[in-house]
Parts: sequence; structure tokens; C-alpha cells
Amino acid sequence: MKGPRPRKVPQRTCVACRTVRAKRDLVRIVRTLEGPVIVDTTGKKSGRGAYLCRQQSCWDVGLRRGALDRALKHSITGEDRLALESFAATLPPRLEESPSAVTEHHLDDRRA
Ligand SMILES: [Zn+2]
Repeated sequence: MKGPRPRKVPQRTCVACRTVRAKRDLVRIVRTLEGPVIVDTTGKKSGRGAYLCRQQSCWDVGLRRGALDRALKHSITGEDRLALESFAATLPPRLEESPSAVTEHHLDDRRA
């Protein structure tokens, strides 16, 4: 026993920079069952998902260098790509590193 541990935060890997982060620091992009590739702000849509950091540099890699296409096994084109690019434009160029001790109590991840 090493004392109380912080509650486990779900973690995911950014498909661009391969950094493992808390899920809420990433943005889920999902290739929906209907076809379009969209930003999944709820994190609950079904389909093949991929994660990118909330920073433009990763979206650059994801969109312009094909990391996202590879992760989703799908070529993102047309309106889908435009929508993702406009979402990326709302993000900060670089994610501020959060302090190591992050309190995590406002999200209820236990819902089924
Ligand atoms: Zn990243």
C-alpha cells in the first residue's frame, strides 16, 4: 500500500503525438456508423473513434499528415474535413500542461 491513490482517470492516446492523457484532455473523433466523421463532444457516439489532444499542433498532424485517416481507417474528405478543421481552429495552438495533481471529481464516468 502506498497510501490513498487518486481515482483512476480514463486515459487515451493521442493518435498524432502518442501522448497518453486523461480522456477529458483529448477530443474524440468518431467515424459514425452512418458514415460521416465528426467531433464527438459527448464521447458516447458509436463507431470507430480516435483521440487528439486539445491543441492545434496535433490536429495539424492528424488532418494534414494523415494520422487521423490512418487511425480511423478512412479517408476524411470534403465537409467532414472542413468541419474538423474549423473545430481545430477553435483550439489553442498548444495545450497548457496541467499541474500533475489534478483533482477529478466533477465528472461522473460511472454511468453505463
Ligand atoms: Zn497529441
